[in-house]
Amino acid sequence: MTEPDAPAPTAASDFLRDLVRRDVEHGTFGGRVQTRFPPEPNGYLHVGHAKAISVDFGIAAEFGGRCSLRFDDTNPDAEEQQFVDGILEDLGWLGFTPPQPVLYASDYFEQLYAWAEHLVSEGLAYVDDQDSDSISAQRGGYGKPGAESPFRDRSPQQNLDLLRRMRAGEFADGSRVLRARIDMQHENMQLRDPVMYRIRRGRHHRTGERWCIYPTYDWAHGQSDAIEGVTHSLCTLEFDSHRALYDWFLEHLPLPFDKPRQTEFARLELTHTVMSKRRLAALVADGTVDGWDDPRLPTLRGMRRRGYPAAAIRDFCSYIGVARTNSRHEIELLESFIRTELNRTALRRMAVLRPVRLVLENWPTDAAGEPVVEWVEVVNNPENPADGTRLVPFAGELFIEQEDFAEVPPPKFFRLAPGREVRLRGAFFVTATDVVKDSAGAVVEVRATYDPATRGGTAPDGRKVKSTMHWVSAAHAVTATVALYNRLFTAAVPGEATGDPTDDLDPASRELLTGCKVEPALAETRSGDVVQFERLGYFAHDPRQPMLFHRTVGLRDEWANIQKRQK
Ligand code: ATP
Ligand code: MG
Repeated sequence: MTEPDAPAPTAASDFLRDLVRRDVEHGTFGGRVQTRFPPEPNGYLHVGHAKAISVDFGIAAEFGGRCSLRFDDTNPDAEEQQFVDGILEDLGWLGFTPPQPVLYASDYFEQLYAWAEHLVSEGLAYVDDQDSDSISAQRGGYGKPGAESPFRDRSPQQNLDLLRRMRAGEFADGSRVLRARIDMQHENMQLRDPVMYRIRRGRHHRTGERWCIYPTYDWAHGQSDAIEGVTHSLCTLEFDSHRALYDWFLEHLPLPFDKPRQTEFARLELTHTVMSKRRLAALVADGTVDGWDDPRLPTLRGMRRRGYPAAAIRDFCSYIGVARTNSRHEIELLESFIRTELNRTALRRMAVLRPVRLVLENWPTDAAGEPVVEWVEVVNNPENPADGTRLVPFAGELFIEQEDFAEVPPPKFFRLAPGREVRLRGAFFVTATDVVKDSAGAVVEVRATYDPATRGGTAPDGRKVKSTMHWVSAAHAVTATVALYNRLFTAAVPGEATGDPTDDLDPASRELLTGCKVEPALAETRSGDVVQFERLGYFAHDPRQPMLFHRTVGLRDEWANIQKRQK
């Protein structure tokens, strides 16, 4: 089967690369390029992260720079070692080995604290005794002025004393915060005296119970970039309004090095799925899906289990490129990259998902009265002759798909029907003669004859048939379970109508078929292998459960159809 190729990846030129190129040409940052990928270990990576990884690592590589991996681990409530390990594993699977050492924002807690004392001494930060509700009530809003905290004008000495006692654990969780002292009337809300430290007792996955105050994202991020010598801090558009704060902190610290510069790009969004870790975690927690590696999720581990090749995800990311405005890509585009890659690499196999028995009445028996077994030679991958051929057993009792037979064929049905001849792939022409039904009237067996002169699937007299069907020898078949998937969300933009994406969940997003009959070669499939079941699609062998296959994608290029419709 041949399929239209997915579009070729574009040459890398976009606003980020143009910016970095200009910096290198002008000798900004001494001509250095250093980026970082900064995941928070509060969940596993999703395909949106793959885009960020492709941007961060890609740009560093293209400009002879380096990209580090830094865990943004400033919140002990949400972060766990299992996510750190999982992110490292997923990154490696995607094809990006993180350069050593792996970095952690938590390694900078001491330095960040020292800088916080510096800001306090300069009168640029203060301890606020109000709770978080009062603080947010005073922030005001767009066009609505903020109100200054009654604790804003404490002396540096008083603030320093309180900050030290916060660190020493003298105060209850949530009872005080450290805030930057900037401007409660600033038009950018991020600059209205943002919180820098919160008191929070919890076990941090790396620092244990050493700290009871934790820096906020804003207070940690730019400083961590600076400590590492990051030049281009690339992040997604929602941080656009934080940039002024990022710069403010850096400007007010005694930094011995160049200040990194933050630039934002659009997040990757895909139709029919959600990409926020918070929402993904909720689907996992409430049992909507089986875990972070459920094949219906857009997580890298879900996609891997589903059989998405890492190379196809990388190609997709470079194809979509980066832009400055948010947009949502059709999931069919990603799938077309998956299909293109698998068409090239996946071995072809035969599997019958909903079997019905096909009995060849004129099939010969040997001297002992046993049905003869013919070994039919079949091509492993027409796209890659190097994959060679294999021998598949064929005998007088076979399984075919229920839907490949119709007792009363509707118009345009060209598959098997009484009196009609079809080809069984690579084997023989067969003609249906009769059916056997159960007491409820369902067809349980199709009777047929075969033409011994059509061995290999061609008739010497040149007669044609309208259909070629896949099959499995009943005596040799291996039983398998196959999971078929629909989109997890029926709506293109989950939650668009009601605000709650879970309203658009498809309760039938997975269909498990047990009792599927597959050719014996599939029993040798290794976990994680992806094969093409002829005429049915690509299927990935589950990494843990033997003889469980997940449908990766179907064979039809839906993206091509969408493009045709759009023209
Ligand atoms: P989420 O919103 O899914 O929880 P996040 O931004 O909180 O994601 P982080 O672990 O903080 O997740 O993200 C690490 C990096 O990946 C950040 O630089 C972030 O900008 C980037 N990133 C996250 N989601 C996407 C996405 N959908 N597309 C592109 N980049 C993303
Ligand atoms: Mg985040």
